[in-house]
Amino acid sequence: MNQINQSGWKPGTPVASIDGEKHPTVTGNKALMLEEALIFEIGDADTYGVDLPYTPTDLPGRMGKFTRKGEIGLPGLSEPQTVRHYTRLSRQNYGIDLGFFPLGSCTMKHNPRLNEKVARMPGFLDVHPMQPIDTVQGALGVIDELAHWLITLTGMQSVAMSPKAGAHGELCGILCIRAALEARGDARKVVLVPESAHGTNPATAAFAGYSTEDIPANKDGRVDLDALKARLGPDVAAVMITNPNTCGLFERDMKAISDAVHEAGGLVYCDGANFNAIMGRVRPGDLGIDAMHINLHKTFSTPHGGGGPGSGPVVLSEALAPFAPLPFVEKAKDGSLRLIEEENMEEHHASTFGRMTAFNGQMGMFTRALTYILSHGADGLRQAAGDAVLNANYILRQLEDVLHAPFGASGPCMHEALFGDAGFAEGFSTLDLAKGLIDEGFHPMTMYFPLVVHGAMLIEPTETESKAGIDQFIMAMRSLAQRAKDGDEALLTAPHHAPRARLDEAHAARKPRLAWSEPEG
Ligand SMILES: *Cc1c(COP(=O)(O)O)cnc(C)c1O
Repeated sequence: MNQINQSGWKPGTPVASIDGEKHPTVTGNKALMLEEALIFEIGDADTYGVDLPYTPTDLPGRMGKFTRKGEIGLPGLSEPQTVRHYTRLSRQNYGIDLGFFPLGSCTMKHNPRLNEKVARMPGFLDVHPMQPIDTVQGALGVIDELAHWLITLTGMQSVAMSPKAGAHGELCGILCIRAALEARGDARKVVLVPESAHGTNPATAAFAGYSTEDIPANKDGRVDLDALKARLGPDVAAVMITNPNTCGLFERDMKAISDAVHEAGGLVYCDGANFNAIMGRVRPGDLGIDAMHINLHKTFSTPHGGGGPGSGPVVLSEALAPFAPLPFVEKAKDGSLRLIEEENMEEHHASTFGRMTAFNGQMGMFTRALTYILSHGADGLRQAAGDAVLNANYILRQLEDVLHAPFGASGPCMHEALFGDAGFAEGFSTLDLAKGLIDEGFHPMTMYFPLVVHGAMLIEPTETESKAGIDQFIMAMRSLAQRAKDGDEALLTAPHHAPRARLDEAHAARKPRLAWSEPEG
């Protein structure tokens, strides 16, 4: 195996030299953590994992002018080399099955294995969206039963199941709102969004053709009700409010906000990504909300991260239900289930704004979410929300003497604890603390969000962390907070124990080098 490494590493030189590693190895491996070069650097074009028949190169091409002129440039590896390459890379990764993943707002909870087992049952796994309806009654039954649970838990009128992520659900909800306003001939142009909102909220409103305006927060970290009321008027189509909000606080004025918005002729969108904190305890429908997405991949434990797959059903009030997208599942009098598609539009759903997806949504996520719900039961869901909130408050109170907790005095938090960088030594930032957390064996928390807190650190333990696990995290955080305050220089170059030391992230994001080229010579 060719051991030349494009990153410039040569045998005999330490790999993570940034911390002046004391015991370099000639291979670059650190005990059983193996250093791994790029696939192009370890492979060579004459090696194959399978025996291919000899192909003469002088056959007349059938590709016309598209015939390849040069070498194809693929890496060549045997099967064991390939397996080891990817296994070694995978060991440098971090996941929820490995340890605590305190990313605030993301709800990285354990994905129960029972969910996975059910999702892999052949009847669910092999189902195809174009199968005849009488052969997929069980799958439609799952969608229908999950819809029933979501409607019941939220106290809403109906649910659009097809959106495939939180942001997609936001778009679905805002398009329902736009359709409702258009149906009454009311061309409103502005959507109000709190300063602390997730970036997807204003992006969704802008994508749907609205201009957005900030609603200020009060000193407690909640929406300033008076400022909101003062801004309401005939040009405001909707407000988009996250509840619990991204400062980890419950918006206690939600009902008053909804009433004021409705009185001014607008509609209320609630970002329900944080429903994990309140499921089984608060019904958004009782708070006057018109549309709210639920991230099944957060609240109901379906796996996510790394870009998918998500699922973002949107619950709707009576005012918005007629505008919901197709398709949806409907139960006939004889108990059979059918899918209402576009062809039934006139008959069934004349006001629908259209559709969000080609088919019915994320079946695999529906199956997992329903399994989670049924295995918890109503009381178990309520308990999960309570435990998530308890865990976050434990972290808040265990860290607030060493880390600035801007809303620590606003009362208990919900399912996430928020800190800022006030008090760090000159030149030390949240980023440094987060990098130190990697050395301590934790995935960093959400950083620099929400924007309303300087150097924000948003920590969400979820209900699935044990007390022992949380205590270890608290110990690491206390030590790192102290080092950031004391100005411990070693923190500025952390991580020191990761396979790669501190990266130039701005460069990697702005000018990524995504193609490999043959080294010169
Ligand atoms: C996660 C999240 C979203 C977006 O959800 P995606 O599924 O990632 O598109 C929106 N708002 C809040 C508050 C979130 O936490």
